[in-house]
Amino acid sequence: MKTTDECYDEPYTGTCPDCEGTGRVECDVCEGEGGTDTEVCAACNGDGGMICPECDGAGEATYHMGQKI
Ligand SMILES: [Zn+2]
Ligand SMILES: [Zn+2]
Repeated sequence: MKTTDECYDEPYTGTCPDCEGTGRVECDVCEGEGGTDTEVCAACNGDGGMICPECDGAGEATYHMGQKI
């Protein structure tokens, strides 16, 4: 879901599109696997996920003029 044009220039708070409100995203280093059979992923410590960088784990984000604020 993308922000529609009609609310483009007004601050818009909504569910974070990156994590869909969970505040967490799949680790992009190990693609959610947590590492390989022999190695734990250093980026997520084997967790397979990380705090969403888009909303810092809040699960929602506020945008204005297409920019996160
Ligand atoms: Zn990882
Ligand atoms: Zn997020």
